[in-house]
Amino acid sequence: MKRLMIHDLRPEYFDLPLGDYVLTFDDGLFSHYYYLPLLRRCGSPLLFFLATALVGEGPARPPFAGRPLPYRTPAEYARAAFLAGDRRDFLTVEEARILAREKGVRLGAHSHFHAVGLTDVAPRRPRPVSPWRVELFAGIPEELRRGLSIRSRLAFAGFVFENGRLRPRREAEWRADIRRDTECCLEWFERRLGVRPDAYAFPFNEYSPVLIEELERYGFREFYGPPRPKDPRVLARIDIEELLPPGRPGAEAAERGRGGPGGGDPAGVR
Ligand SMILES: [Zn+2]
Repeated sequence: MKRLMIHDLRPEYFDLPLGDYVLTFDDGLFSHYYYLPLLRRCGSPLLFFLATALVGEGPARPPFAGRPLPYRTPAEYARAAFLAGDRRDFLTVEEARILAREKGVRLGAHSHFHAVGLTDVAPRRPRPVSPWRVELFAGIPEELRRGLSIRSRLAFAGFVFENGRLRPRREAEWRADIRRDTECCLEWFERRLGVRPDAYAFPFNEYSPVLIEELERYGFREFYGPPRPKDPRVLARIDIEELLPPGRPGAEAAERGRGGPGGGDPAGVR
């Protein structure tokens, strides 16, 4: 069964033959919970990947009863979350609990912080970098950042800004950072939901042998990635946006999302 990758959910998706696919959802968004009454009807296996630091506190909000939610691109909700500290587009703990109890639902990890860093590994298909990413590094002088990409901080060694300069992050530091993030994520699952996930979707769909090796040490056995992963351990996913007919309402917003939190990720905080 082929897999679809979904970010913010919107009503147009429910006109697609969703029952032919495993549905995977990245970032742990409120819309994943909100549209649960519609998701139940499509009969697909559902796999929700939570970036656990982004899950908010608070009770469950009312689910869908006929009124669509405004659709937000990953660039839009990432900007709100990472720059304005506004997490209303994300699940609350109580909503995550309700999802976890649902039949046919699995929860997986999508890192804790969903962090980005500066790297000299350029994406294979470069896209415009979304403003929220650039803003995160505004404190680093522009001449130092020139020629570098802003991508997953877990997937690449990248650079550390220290004493006014950028220096390469040592492999031991990089691995320690991966472990810290993974331990925070697993602790969240253990404490909040009493479960230990074994499926992992890479933030921004970006991965490397070092990252997979570290995640395997924590018991992760299934890795979800981009449409054509080069590593045979990574399961391919199709971006659901690719299935929508061109020229549909909202297509423009989806395009804006592409350059978004994504990068290597076709859409994502992605
Ligand atoms: Zn993501």
